[in-house]
Amino acid sequence: MATKIFSTAPNYVQGRGVTANIGDHAEQLGDSALLIADEIVLDLVAGTVTESFESRGIDATSVTFKGEVSTTEIERITDEATTQGVDTVVGAGGGKAIDTAKSVADAAELATVSMPTVASTDAPTSSLSVIYSEQGEFEEYQFHESHPELVLVDTELIAAAPTHFFVSGVGDALATWFEADAAYQATNGQNFFGGRPTRAGHTLSELCYETIREHAHAAIQAVEQNAVTESVEAVTEANTLLSGLGFENGGLAAAHSIHNGLTQLEETHDASHGEKVNIGTIAQLVLEGRSNAFIEEIITFSQTAGLPVTLGEIGLDDPSDEQLGQVAKAACAEEETIHNEPFAITPAAVADAIRTADAVGHTVSE
Ligand SMILES: [Zn+2]
Repeated sequence: MATKIFSTAPNYVQGRGVTANIGDHAEQLGDSALLIADEIVLDLVAGTVTESFESRGIDATSVTFKGEVSTTEIERITDEATTQGVDTVVGAGGGKAIDTAKSVADAAELATVSMPTVASTDAPTSSLSVIYSEQGEFEEYQFHESHPELVLVDTELIAAAPTHFFVSGVGDALATWFEADAAYQATNGQNFFGGRPTRAGHTLSELCYETIREHAHAAIQAVEQNAVTESVEAVTEANTLLSGLGFENGGLAAAHSIHNGLTQLEETHDASHGEKVNIGTIAQLVLEGRSNAFIEEIITFSQTAGLPVTLGEIGLDDPSDEQLGQVAKAACAEEETIHNEPFAITPAAVADAIRTADAVGHTVSE
């Protein structure tokens, strides 16, 4: 029997206002910390984070993240961390700031705290960074030796952030179960640790899906009011912890490969990760030959949540065969997770699934 692997971040803290306690939770990680965040997030959290660290005798400084998880940006901030000689890096913001912090920590052998201020992706809990070109095209997954030592999620910040971030996270989380289940069914399906998925990884992915289906619409309404409710807590956990544990331990499949393919087209760069993933999810369901009724149900659920269901909604109004061919070819690259689907994959089948998903999306949304 093939080896099963399950791996996770050791500490996850979630709740209203927990930013003020970051020093307590990170105390054992070292004496000095570097906060990595873009200008907006620094304005939002630098004061509270620094004060909390200092109350525990930890020196804290910050560096402004320029916005892309590129090799150049990682090297620039690694130099900064090395020059300052810090013990810990704190990545605050969205997936890109956090992924950058993880890569910096890996390069400089430091501890990582991941502090998502938006529930937009499942990056915070994972031990990998998604590297993009400076122009925003997907380049590669970079695997790290370990997970962030601490993941700290302040639901007050999550609820106060623009709603579209939260909606994007729902898109990313909705894919988790379909992808993990594909990898589980496939004889050679693998998770991100190069092992077979455990029952735990599979079941946490299913819980992610159930939580999203039960709470997403109510949670999105609450976040529109900047309100923290139990549904917001539930969906924040699904978007961040369950989706993160689910994708790493359960494995990804077609939806994320199609997302990666879509990043090849500049027209899609304004659409968020979760938005492009959602197009990938619907295309995956078509590729898998799911029933009309089920695909339509997922499209309706997506639409109510405010997620895109057509290519036009992610910037591709009238894609040419050539463009879709390019997306499909990239999605089917040898190292892509699409090969976790329990059947053979061809670029032609993927391009047709994307086109059909778009047509069904139009029909249901009209
Ligand atoms: Zn994702």
